[in-house]
Amino acid sequence: MLGDPTTRTADPTLDPTLDPTAAQITLAERYAAHNYHPLPVVAAEAEGAWVTGVDGRRYLDCLAGYSALNFGHRHPAILAAAREQLDRLTLISRAFHHDQFGAFCAELAGLVAASNPMSSTGSVTGAEASPGVMVLPMNTGAEAVETALKLARKWGYERKGVPDGQATIVVAAGNFHGRTITIVSFSDDPDARDHYGPYTSGFVTVPYGDAGAVADAIDDTTVAVLIEPVQGEAGVIVPPEGYLREVRRTCTERGVLLLADEIQAGLGRTGTTFACDREGVVPDLYILGKALGGGVVPVSAVAGSPDVLSVVRPGQHGSTFGGNPLACAVGRAVVGLLTDGSYQRRAAALGTVLTERLNALLGKGLVGVRTAGLWAGIDVDPALGTGRDICSTLAERGVLAKDTHGSTIRLAPPLVIEQADLEWAVDQLADVLATR
Ligand SMILES: *Cc1c(COP(=O)(O)O)cnc(C)c1O
Repeated sequence: MLGDPTTRTADPTLDPTLDPTAAQITLAERYAAHNYHPLPVVAAEAEGAWVTGVDGRRYLDCLAGYSALNFGHRHPAILAAAREQLDRLTLISRAFHHDQFGAFCAELAGLVAASNPMSSTGSVTGAEASPGVMVLPMNTGAEAVETALKLARKWGYERKGVPDGQATIVVAAGNFHGRTITIVSFSDDPDARDHYGPYTSGFVTVPYGDAGAVADAIDDTTVAVLIEPVQGEAGVIVPPEGYLREVRRTCTERGVLLLADEIQAGLGRTGTTFACDREGVVPDLYILGKALGGGVVPVSAVAGSPDVLSVVRPGQHGSTFGGNPLACAVGRAVVGLLTDGSYQRRAAALGTVLTERLNALLGKGLVGVRTAGLWAGIDVDPALGTGRDICSTLAERGVLAKDTHGSTIRLAPPLVIEQADLEWAVDQLADVLATR
């Protein structure tokens, strides 16, 4: 059954010397490409912030699918929307309309418009959404980033008058925007980039957090500045206060689009609907993904200025699955959860607790703590081991977290986590650091 019977005789799941965890890991290592290096936890079930392994062990999820699970595992409202939609219509393609599409776009537009202080309507209920925002749904985060880049280039040629083929986009050092060839072309992480060339040209990299460097990089060919309002993959790097406002001001003055990659930082994570809200900044395009799919299906979108979104006409961009009925139903449930601000407030309140507790570990095994809402990047004293060593020990104690670079660990629990559970996770971390 498994592969070629002449070379693959033993099914590890039938091997009595292997426990269920080891059997599943053996299967994965034998048949799946090794493009990840997972910790030895095999999830079987989950609810809220808690995951159960195939061995029956329980784990507190402090990664939340890199923020794809902001509302926890299997949130009842999201599951109900998905189930209802599964029973009605799951796919039709964009060759036709369907009854979730317009509503999803309108409701997401409403959520975005509510973050715009200039917007006349603070309502985030579909029908009343400000026509000042339009939406283009896709599936994965990388596709949404690609969409924003395509829109920005086309806008540059057709609206700004940049000579065709010469558009440039300013990006930040340390960025993470996904894995396509164009996106890794402007990554400075050798693992993400090396040996995937020839690369896409037209990108200029400046240091992150330095608004002056953005201004200096802009010239007549510049169509956009693409930034993460908080850099997630880089280790939850929070830019200096005022950076986003200054970049926004520069972009407006110079007639350049601001593209905010909110895929990981947005949708409640930082204590506000969008991370740009922390500085009252409205980008020309929000790039959304991860939590927009409610932990159920991949859903991403670009949302923003109709002046930009209107540059694509029929046939000029698309996706077979983008905006499908199931994705839209799930996306509507997610937007619904963010409408009254309660998850955002919860992220902010729990984030304060997390920040205080982590700061207390500075000098006690931690050498750096950066937080934004319920999101933390912590630097472990390298003398205590690598980030991976610490995460392995945490997993043994029932806490799921992931190292990012070297000795940095990212903590991004679901926003539904109970405060007592969050504090228990920090207790485990404190113990691990104290006993190494
Ligand atoms: C995860 C992520 C992406 C890519 O999303 P995928 O769904 O993995 O393609 C892009 N930008 C940021 C900031 C991310 O965190």
